[in-house]
Amino acid sequence: MRLLLVEDDAMIGRAVRQGLGGAGFTVDWVTDGRAAELALANGVYDLALIDLGLPAKDGMALLRELRERRDRLPVLIVTARDSVADRIAGLNAGADDYVLKPFDLDELVARVRALLRRHAGGAAPLLESGSLTLDPVRREVRRNGQEIQLSAREFALLEALMQRPGAVLSREQLEDTVYGWGEEVGSNAVEVHLHNLRRKLGPDSIRNVRGVGYKVTAE
Ligand code: CA
Repeated sequence: MRLLLVEDDAMIGRAVRQGLGGAGFTVDWVTDGRAAELALANGVYDLALIDLGLPAKDGMALLRELRERRDRLPVLIVTARDSVADRIAGLNAGADDYVLKPFDLDELVARVRALLRRHAGGAAPLLESGSLTLDPVRREVRRNGQEIQLSAREFALLEALMQRPGAVLSREQLEDTVYGWGEEVGSNAVEVHLHNLRRKLGPDSIRNVRGVGYKVTAE
């Protein structure tokens, strides 16, 4: 899953990106309100973490604009403004949740997952395809009940495919899901990960639709 992090504090930004990256999320990090506006406009994100005090345009204005154009993207406000009035204003402007600085990284990751789960409809976070099940919260993949160890990239690729069972995703779409901006992507990186996934999950688990892309099959 791909997240947008809007944070102008370099130390906090780095820590959050690392923490969420370690939890298997793809994170794009921008440091001012204008860059955030551009990033949000392209609509590829599953969730945004937005700091309120930002250069160029503040987080509250970003949030209001997002909701004014009926964008339902889950938003977690991450802020040092701890007055009750600010919190109420943020929630009224359409934030889904709040984390106050300083915060615990594990708690932040847990809140992000809870928000994603709630947004997806709550109770059924398991993805299934044939004999495969994927638990996005526990980061577990099972085939016929047997757990299979995957790297973070392999997991992210499989998650993207299993979120749209039957749909064919192009290599570019898969790249966008798994790699954040500025990350070096080798020309056949996605193919290599898919090859390893097939090796671990069985050759029929993921089908290559020649010239179009890939999809999961429910053998
Ligand atoms: Ca700030």
